[in-house]
Amino acid sequence: MILPIRAYGDPVLKKVAQDIEPGHPGLEQLIADMYETMYAANGVGLAAPQIGQSLRLFVVDASPFAEDEEGKPTEDAHLKDFKKVFINPYIVEEEGEEWPFEEGCLSIPNIREEVFRLPRIVLQYQDEQFKEHEETFDGFAARVIQHEHDHLDGVLFTDHLPPLRRRLLQGKLKDISRGKTDAKYKMRFTPTK
Ligand SMILES: [Zn+2]
Repeated sequence: MILPIRAYGDPVLKKVAQDIEPGHPGLEQLIADMYETMYAANGVGLAAPQIGQSLRLFVVDASPFAEDEEGKPTEDAHLKDFKKVFINPYIVEEEGEEWPFEEGCLSIPNIREEVFRLPRIVLQYQDEQFKEHEETFDGFAARVIQHEHDHLDGVLFTDHLPPLRRRLLQGKLKDISRGKTDAKYKMRFTPTK
């Protein structure tokens, strides 16, 4: 089932999400719905707070970046298998020299801004069977995880922008929270005062 994506301004996007216990009711369906919702919106990642569930869970699928239009491997060919569910993820290490990348977010349609992040992370997480993992990610994969992991701590990519840049975006962000956007997917809005 495709779920509406919560827009900028929804209080659930500012909350710190709760850990998930094994046997969480409806978890399998929730994960399936999150994939369906993400694909319908052409997203690379989707975090549970973005569909209104304040839970430490996100899904990613960066495999489209592994091939060009003709199906030939790109320089990101290692992303071919980067389709994953992350349960209770925690970044335990971040290292390297920060690098810029233009990020966007399904909760903030049609805004892209350069965000600086460190290139390498160590992530602890559980898979769908609640098996523990500790894994190193770098480059684009690390970038996607850092963005989604932020959602679980109530942080949006706009929070990383320099104050002036953020001030310049205020009007556009307010418009989004009021539903003034032409996003091509289903959204839910909570206007801010
Ligand atoms: Zn996002």
